[in-house]
Amino acid sequence: MEINYEELGLKVGLEIHQQLATKGKLFCSCSTSLASESTPKVEVSRYLRVAKSEIGEVDPAALYEMLKGRKIIYEVPRGHACLVELDEEPPHPINMEAVLITLGIVKALNAKPVDEVYVMRKIVIDGSNTSGFQRTAVVGVGGFIEDENGRVGIQTICLEEDAARKVDEGKGYVKYNLDRLGIPLVEISTAPDIKSPEQALRVAFKLGLLLRLTGKVKRGIGTIRQDLNVSIKGGSKIEIKGVSKLELIPKVIEYEVMRQLKLLEIRDELIKRGLSSEELTYVVKDVTQVFVNTKSNLVRNALSKGLKVYALPLKGFNGILKVEVQPGRRFGTELSDYAKAWGGVGGIIHSDELPAYGISAEEKLNVFKVLNLDESRDAYVLTLADDESAERALQAVFERVKNAFVGVPKETRAANPDGTTKYMRPQPGASRMYPETDIPPLRISEELLKEAEKLKPPTPDELLSRLVKEHNLPKPIAEALVRDPLIHTYLNLVESFGRSVAPHVIASTLMIHLKGLKSQGFDVSLITEEVLEKVFEGVGSGLISKDSIPEILKEYLSSKGSKSVEELVKAYAVLRREDLEKIVDEVIERNRESILAKESKAFNIVMGEVMRVVRGKIDGKIVADVVREKLSAYLKKK
Ligand SMILES: [Zn+2]
Repeated sequence: MEINYEELGLKVGLEIHQQLATKGKLFCSCSTSLASESTPKVEVSRYLRVAKSEIGEVDPAALYEMLKGRKIIYEVPRGHACLVELDEEPPHPINMEAVLITLGIVKALNAKPVDEVYVMRKIVIDGSNTSGFQRTAVVGVGGFIEDENGRVGIQTICLEEDAARKVDEGKGYVKYNLDRLGIPLVEISTAPDIKSPEQALRVAFKLGLLLRLTGKVKRGIGTIRQDLNVSIKGGSKIEIKGVSKLELIPKVIEYEVMRQLKLLEIRDELIKRGLSSEELTYVVKDVTQVFVNTKSNLVRNALSKGLKVYALPLKGFNGILKVEVQPGRRFGTELSDYAKAWGGVGGIIHSDELPAYGISAEEKLNVFKVLNLDESRDAYVLTLADDESAERALQAVFERVKNAFVGVPKETRAANPDGTTKYMRPQPGASRMYPETDIPPLRISEELLKEAEKLKPPTPDELLSRLVKEHNLPKPIAEALVRDPLIHTYLNLVESFGRSVAPHVIASTLMIHLKGLKSQGFDVSLITEEVLEKVFEGVGSGLISKDSIPEILKEYLSSKGSKSVEELVKAYAVLRREDLEKIVDEVIERNRESILAKESKAFNIVMGEVMRVVRGKIDGKIVADVVREKLSAYLKKK
């Protein structure tokens, strides 16, 4: 289906969070690297209480976390967290290195630095911040980034502290490691100026490259995170958290647009059926009796644990719960997310999907009867739970069902690895920022701005001229690289091997050989940066010839995992000259008759056969020299 995003009024805003590679954390001098398994650590546990006065009006997000009432356990690894992270000691003055890097980014994004940096407290009550808030400061406002579809506004550039790292979660508890808490993060928020999924990808890529070119950011999994907000005409602005892979961005947007369209269709259908949210009544009924002799293992297991089957009738909803809103996700799945998040239950079963899970058609009908429902018009939702969990789960499902009459309820969603999304929590209210009284405001002086100028990352044009002038890349390759996601791999490899391997060898491996293999149908995503590192290590140390790179990569892909890149590098180890000479002698001997018969063709005959054996293992020019030498000596002897 071709979707006209402009007609739908698609608006997308991006929020990019990037960890900075500073020496210390934002408000203490602990290491900004993550602790290892063997780092000695102690554990501290707490219960989080939220005072109503702290929140002002009761915030839905706050209420939600309060309801969950869990024990929070903190791991405190030595050297990676101190009393500041534990909230037992006031924060130290803000890390100036982090401020300067952020100011450099502010300049590169054409934004205006603030006169004074005020650190604010943003309420966060999932336990990922020991203090119950995250410290954040606006450093720049009102910039823009160029895109082929027009400028995309940059609303704010903030410097904030990263949250603690969740390491475990179970019934009634959640465990965090404090090593990540306090690592400086730069947060760039664009205006909702992005109008297509492809444009979102382009802008995210450009912002990521700009951050990377500061040379002051952390790299690797988890060091950069993308959030999106997506809306269409008639829908709602939906926040989507945790898109970890850049390439997933267009898909997440496409699927969210699909979901909002489907939810609007559902709303229209409900209105067409003459239903209204006011007429919907909340009743929960214990229908366990229907299942006393059930053959469903799922239900039997639940009953044997003392759980019961509770039902929520939904008058007039027949067929609505099976409407697919995203690939593999139905309206019933949306309800199930609410039941899981609010009731801690395993999920729900709904009448549109029955018979299933071993529940028979007869049992399905019996539930309709017990609930006094009409099986051709109505629907119901079942959950297997204890009394209290069932109440919370079905209440949440009921609220969500009522919102079906509005269309797209405002909520925060989490991205799944396949690009679909699931309900995460309500959207936080607006009044969640308070001044951090422990840290004095920081004046942004002319001197600071001058210093920041030195840290300003190059523009794409400046990068291009650097690749041509300093790396000696042919201009077309440099131009393609600047626009290609492989630029990151290229820069990494040049950083590691640039002294022993010419940058143009690295560039042509990525932009010519890899793309060539891809067009031959190979899955080049298997050639990871680690694989390339092993190959360039071999080239840099003189173990293999650069000419063997394409062959090694091809063989690596063809072997489908049966050969390691280390093995292949060894197999392609450069021939020593004396070994080459031996091979040439043998080939001449084998072909002596044809050589003597046709001296003018002798070189081609020998060269061709030798190359078949040594290709990729030694430079072709050296082979030609040896063949020429050996042949002339041989022919002279005759
Ligand atoms: Zn610390």
